[in-house]
Parts: sequence; C-alpha cells; structure tokens
Amino acid sequence: MAVLITGIGELTTNDPELGKLRDAALVLDGETVGWAGPAARAPDADERVDVEGRAVLPGWVDSHTHLVFAGDRTAEFEARMAGQAYAAGGIAVTVDATRAASDEQLAANLRRHVEEAAAQGTTCLETKTGYGLTVADEARSARIAGAAADEVTFLGAHLVPPGADAESYVDLVCGEMLDAVAPYVRWADVFCETGAFDEAQSARVLKAAAERGLGLRVHGNQLGEGPGVRLAVELDAASVDHCTYLSDADVEALASSNTVATILPACDLSTRQALAPARRLLDAGATVALASNANPGSSYTTSVAFCVTTAVLQLRMTVDEAVWSATAGGARALRREDVGYLRPGARADVHVLDAPSTTHLAYRPGVPLTHSVWRKGAKLR
Ligand SMILES: [Zn+2]
Repeated sequence: MAVLITGIGELTTNDPELGKLRDAALVLDGETVGWAGPAARAPDADERVDVEGRAVLPGWVDSHTHLVFAGDRTAEFEARMAGQAYAAGGIAVTVDATRAASDEQLAANLRRHVEEAAAQGTTCLETKTGYGLTVADEARSARIAGAAADEVTFLGAHLVPPGADAESYVDLVCGEMLDAVAPYVRWADVFCETGAFDEAQSARVLKAAAERGLGLRVHGNQLGEGPGVRLAVELDAASVDHCTYLSDADVEALASSNTVATILPACDLSTRQALAPARRLLDAGATVALASNANPGSSYTTSVAFCVTTAVLQLRMTVDEAVWSATAGGARALRREDVGYLRPGARADVHVLDAPSTTHLAYRPGVPLTHSVWRKGAKLR
C-alpha cells in the first residue's frame, strides 16, 4: 500500500540532488520510499496524510548504544556530579547486574529502550554486547540484541573483567568468545583506552574479528589522546567513537580515510569531559556522525535530538550539519545507504517534527518535537 505524505513545509532528503525541499510530498511504497519531490507534482496514492506544514526528515540513525544491560548506576552518576572523576571501571557494576538478569529481563529492558528511542524519532539503532564478558553471557547478549536492534556489535573487549589477567582475557575474546558471538553480530568493537585495552591488545581483537569477516568499530580517544583513532584508520574501521581528545595527526588521518568520527556529546556532558572537537573535524573534511551512546553509566539518554541540539549550541555545528550527522552520518558509520535518506529506494523511516523546520531542534532546546514516526513504512506514533 502506498501512503502519500503531503503538506510538508520542509523536507530534508540528505540526497545531494534532491536537497532540501519546501512545500514537498513523499510517497511511502510499502517498506521503502517510492517518490520524493514538490507537492504539486506528487503522484496519487492509496492513502493521504497531510502534515500541515511540518518539517519531515529521515528517522535518526543511532549508530552507538549499549542497551543490553540490567541494573542502575544512579549512585555513580550522583558521585560524578558531586565531583568524582569518570573512569572505565564503572562498567563492572553493570556487568554484575547483567549476568544476574534472566534472558526475559534483558530482552524486555532492551525493547523498552528501543521503543523509547523510536518514540523520539530513532528508526535505526545499533547496540552492543559488552556487559557479559564471559563466552556464554556475551553470546546471549548478542542473540538478545539481534531481536530488537538493527545492527549488533560484539564488545567483549569492553573491560578486562575484575580479577582476570588482561592477556589471557584477550586470548579468550579473540578465540572462543568471538566464535560463539560471530553468528549473531555484524560488527566488533574494542574500548581502546587507559584502564581498558592498550594498543596491542586492541589490535589483536580487531584483527581477529576482521579475519572472521566482521566489520570494525573502535571506542577511542575518550579520556585522553591515545592510539584509538590511528588504529581505527589503519584497520579501516567503519567508525571511531568518542573522539573527544584528538591530535592534529588524528584529525588529518580521519579526514583522509573512510573511517567516520562518531561524536557522543551526551556522554561528554554526563562524564564532565571536554566536548569533542566537531568543528575541527568538519573543517578538516572528516565525516562526523552523532550518536547517543545510550548506556546506564556514562550517557543514559536515548534522545538523539538532545545530541543534535548540543551539537549546534555547544559544538558549533550548523543545524544542517548536525541533522545530517545524526541521520546520514550514522548510516555512514554503519556503512549503510538504505537508511538516513529520504529518496526513492531508501527505507521508509520518516520523522515528522511538530515544527516548520529542523532549525527548531536547536532553536527550541529541550522541547519534545517529535510529531509522528514511520519505520519501514509502518506508523509508530
Ligand atoms: Zn560506547
């Protein structure tokens, strides 16, 4: 069945040829976009929805979340807001709670967060393992993730489990754990950071994953400058995420590579770090994605709109840059072209704002502007 969405005050297509259209219309043909263009030239359809001058854009593509978890880290957040520094070790608290939870509890918690994200316009979402850290717990996290997320990433190398020896744990990740998880995931990731995994250990994990045909992602340069970005670019990772502390060489490496710099502003704020140098990256020619990093420790929000608002108001991105980075940029970070765009053939993932333009995302900070959402052509709200 074809649905004609008409009365679009501003249509963001992210397509270089279609551009941004005023007084536009869009046809959803089943699960894909059938047509996009000026309202006056719109073809007929089975059903007609008039959005009365509202802005329409692709659904958010949230390319970085950690939503297979149980438990709560409110106390750690309170301590941080009272002045305690953020460290990678807090992950262990969530690991204990996640291991103790049943499959049903983990699946229900993930579903609840995915629905919360969808209600705010997120129509494509990546999520990771990384709170199991045993072969069995990582495999079940991956299996559960696949039932609710569009993209699943193996993050066995999130933290060396307390009490374990780092080198033997990396052996386990690169061998038995990777074998158990590989059928459920498309990506592998490593937390390359002081307090997590060093350069040599990170390289071992990434190379073992690449040998099994998995795509690569890296958590890097979050707490200080380090080897994460360089490693990600060298190994042609799809994305290096955080990028809060970058040397000039890191920025240059990103600008001349296919590796996306994924910025997580909600995480930088929640950990009271400096904000990532988005402007420097964009001015150098790097591809920037924006994502929520939704997780119970360092960034407990599913709101991509909050990230877009922050990117404009605090990272000095333009509204168009921020919206692109949270849609097509996220898709680029997942090496996908079917999402993040509203053009014929793209997945029918549509976000209608209760506002006449995307500018209102930054102009009206904190105001919930999601009016309606379609995912794969089905209306969610
Ligand atoms: Zn993360």
